[in-house]
Amino acid sequence: MTLIAPGRSVGVLGNGQLGRMFGLAARTMGYRFVVYGPDAKGPASQIADQTIIGAYEDLDRVREFAGCVDVLSFEFENVPAATAAAAEALTRVRPGPRVLHTCQHRLREKTHLLSASLPVAAFGAVQSAVEAESVAERVGMPGVLKTAASGYDGKGQAKVLQLEDAAPAFESLGGVECIYERFIEFEREVSVVAARGEDGRFAHYGLFENSHQNHILDLTRSPARVSSATARRAEEITRVVLESLEVVGVLCVEMFLTGDGELLVNELAPRPHNSGHLSIEAHETSQFEQQLRAVAGLPLGSTAPRAAAAMANLLGDLWANGSPRFADALREPAVHLHLYGKTGPKPGRKMGHLTALASTPDEAAEKVLKARESLVLPLSEIE
Ligand code: AMP
Repeated sequence: MTLIAPGRSVGVLGNGQLGRMFGLAARTMGYRFVVYGPDAKGPASQIADQTIIGAYEDLDRVREFAGCVDVLSFEFENVPAATAAAAEALTRVRPGPRVLHTCQHRLREKTHLLSASLPVAAFGAVQSAVEAESVAERVGMPGVLKTAASGYDGKGQAKVLQLEDAAPAFESLGGVECIYERFIEFEREVSVVAARGEDGRFAHYGLFENSHQNHILDLTRSPARVSSATARRAEEITRVVLESLEVVGVLCVEMFLTGDGELLVNELAPRPHNSGHLSIEAHETSQFEQQLRAVAGLPLGSTAPRAAAAMANLLGDLWANGSPRFADALREPAVHLHLYGKTGPKPGRKMGHLTALASTPDEAAEKVLKARESLVLPLSEIE
C-alpha cells in the first residue's frame, strides 16, 4: 500500500464546491492541491496552489495534470472513460475508473446493485419508444423514465403514470438510452456517506435524512429519524456497495425508505455528497478529510458524531433582492456558514450551505431553517 504523505500533491478533476472543500482539507493537512477544470475561476481553483485549464476530453492536457499530482480524485462521476484511463496510466486514480464506469450509468449501476443482492426498485432498460411501452407494462406503473447517462438533480427524468405516457416520455428525454423504474411511494429519502481505505477499512457517518425541493437537496438531518434497525440495515447495504465495487475513497448511497420499513437503493455518488456537508462540523472527521485520507493511503479518521445536526442548502434564489443578511443568520452561535465563492447567483444554483448543531435532529433543523429564513426576512418577522 503506497502512502502519499503530506507535502506531496493531490489533484481533483472538476472545479466546483466539492473540489473546493476537498482542497481545503488537503491544504490543512499540508498537501499541495492542484485542480483540473475548464477555467481558473471556479470554487476549487480559488483555493488551489495550481489550476490546469483544459477540457475533460483533452487527453494531452489531462496527462499533463496527471503527471504533476501523486494522486488524483474526482468531484463528479461523469468523467469520460478515456480521461480516467489516460490519467491512470500516469498516476494513482482513486476511486478507480471501474467505479466511475459503473456509477456514471444508471443501468450499469442498478445491474451491479442487483448482482450484489442489494434492494432496488424494479427496473428495465429502454432503447426505443416501443420498448418504453413494453417495459412500463412489464415493470408496472406509475414509473419514472430516466436517461441512463449524465442525469443529476432530477434532470433527464419523466414520470410515466399510464401506458400512453411512456413513448412521449422517451421522446421528451431525447430518444437516448434510458432506465425505466417503478415509482416508489417512499416515506423518507435517506443516505449513507461512507469511506473505504486502501487497506479495506470501512467507516460510515450513520444515516442522514434528506428532503428535496424541485429535485434539489434542500435539508439534511443527522441522524435520520428512523429506528436503529433501519439505520443498521442502511449502513450494512452501504458497506456491501463499497466492498463490491472495491471503492477507495468516499461514496454516498442514496436510498428510499418505504412505509413498510423497506430500504431501496436509488443512486450512488462515488465522492463526497451534499448530504455529507454537515460532517464538517458534526463529525470528528469531515467527509472531505476522509476522502483525502482514503485516496492518499492514510488511515481513515473517526466518524463519531459530535452532535445532532442539520444542513440547509443556499440556492441563488436567496440573492434575488441583493446580498443575503449573513450576520442575521449567524445570530444563533451554533449555525455555521459556508459559501463556495461563486459569482453570478442564479435560481437553483448551489451557492453555499448552513449547518446547525443541536442535541436532536429536529432542533438542529429548526435552527438552520430559521437561520436561512433570516437571510432574506427581517428577524422581527420570524420571531
Ligand atoms: P435521482 O436523480 O435518481 O436521484 O432522482 C432525483 C429524485 O427524484 C429523487 O431524490 C426522488 O425524489 C425522485 N425519484 C427518483 N427515482 C424515483 C423512483 N423510482 N420513485 C420515486 N421517486 C423517485
